[in-house]
Amino acid sequence: MAFKMINESFTCENCGKTIEKHPEWSARNHCPFCLSSKHMDKDFPGDRASTCLWIMEPIWIDNKKNKGWMIKHKCKKCWKEILNKVAPDDNFLDLIKKINSNF
Ligand SMILES: [Zn+2]
Ligand SMILES: [Zn+2]
Repeated sequence: MAFKMINESFTCENCGKTIEKHPEWSARNHCPFCLSSKHMDKDFPGDRASTCLWIMEPIWIDNKKNKGWMIKHKCKKCWKEILNKVAPDDNFLDLIKKINSNF
């Protein structure tokens, strides 16, 4: 199976900000401002095979030994959960505060 990584700029459908291409390495798949994502991947990251295309909300953040910081996104429509790597310019400290305030 091909592992396709697309680095592209897009407009965030959640906060409306324009997101530039990823500054470094991987594909940009979520908004660095509100950290929302879009349900584009079906079976594995980067396949872009989903027909859902709904907004995915960041619900959790985790530190994986081999991958570093990961954001868990949950689709608002079909409830699918996908783990995504944190980008270097992500505003993820705000997300941690937000998650902490929910508990
Ligand atoms: Zn956004
Ligand atoms: Zn979905």
